[in-house]
Amino acid sequence: MGRRRKKYRKPIRKVRKIPKIFQCPNCGSKTLTIRLEKLNIPGYKKAIITCGTCGLHAEMQVPELYGPLDVYAKFIDAFEEGNIEVEFRKKSEEEEVGEIVGESE
Ligand SMILES: [Zn+2]
Repeated sequence: MGRRRKKYRKPIRKVRKIPKIFQCPNCGSKTLTIRLEKLNIPGYKKAIITCGTCGLHAEMQVPELYGPLDVYAKFIDAFEEGNIEVEFRKKSEEEEVGEIVGESE
């Protein structure tokens, strides 16, 4: 006589909405994008941070498990501490973009 309650499983919708556009710590615009590229170093990948407004450009080596949000958090820390090399590129300067890896993640 098992009054079994039907386990009502709510379908967990996996919303993988990872924002790819962040707020730029330099100009404050929400135009900061993070690209991830493969590195030759196992376990690591390269993150390229660029801002479409002020032209900020930075590159970081991050663990492979890092998502854009982790990269962003790390970047903000590094930026505030001055631990990262940041350049400012003019928008008009077409950046040579290599193969983008992990864009669909
Ligand atoms: Zn900016």
